[in-house]
Amino acid sequence: MSDLRPILTTEKLVMQFGGVTAVDNVDFSLREGELRCLLGPNGAGKSTFFKCLTGQLTPTSGRVRFDGQDITGWETHAIVGMGVGIKTQVPNLFDGLSAYENVRMSARRKHLRPMAKEKAEEMLEKCGIAHLARREVGLLAHGQRQLVELATVLAGEPRLVLLDEPAAGMAGDERDRLADLVLETSRRAAVVVVEHDMAFIRRIAKFTTVFNRGAIFREAMIDEIMSDRAVQEIYLGKQADVAA
Ligand code: ADP
Ligand code: MG
Repeated sequence: MSDLRPILTTEKLVMQFGGVTAVDNVDFSLREGELRCLLGPNGAGKSTFFKCLTGQLTPTSGRVRFDGQDITGWETHAIVGMGVGIKTQVPNLFDGLSAYENVRMSARRKHLRPMAKEKAEEMLEKCGIAHLARREVGLLAHGQRQLVELATVLAGEPRLVLLDEPAAGMAGDERDRLADLVLETSRRAAVVVVEHDMAFIRRIAKFTTVFNRGAIFREAMIDEIMSDRAVQEIYLGKQADVAA
């Protein structure tokens, strides 16, 4: 399925906010086609690390490389243009447009008009929201919007997909569908998922990176992570659900 070539790496990545070191010297490597979950207690630096990958933040020092190219400090739109699909914590949709229009606009980056239409319909179908195609996105429920956003990301046919808390605020059935979608996406693209919903993580996670205090604390298969005492300890008092 995947070869050993890294598609995404960081080298000695550092992000400081004033006196706070939110990301502290992180060396990270993701293989082509790999699905990687990023875990860690609140404030561990997951979102800050994620934003350094997506161009939402310019790291204080260190490098980010995608497909061998140094993308450190690039604008988000340029990173998206390289074939990276990004779903940030704050939904990034055109509220006044329909779900279909949102997805089609993303598909248009890759395809001519007739094909983009077909792609958009296919993605809405795949994400289980074909029935919402004509609805105005701003009027949809939160979980539905999350699925529209995922359809929008996938319509760009990215080689790397970056998802920050995609299951946040989702109902159980939506979350299950999302898990299936992430697994299916990972057959065609490398995927990084930041998430603290443990029910969701258990369904999708394989090799997993745990952050703590801005640094990589552990990297191992999810079963090993879940039974790691030290990992449980860093969560204790912060997020009881991990130890459950
Ligand atoms: P996580 O996503 O793992 O919960 P974050 O990356 O959001 O953690 O935060 C890591 C640390 O960086 C926290 O101490 C947080 O308060 C701090 N931080 C994050 N963003 C900013 C910011 N824009 N300005 C100042 N401090 C920030
Ligand atoms: Mg976060």
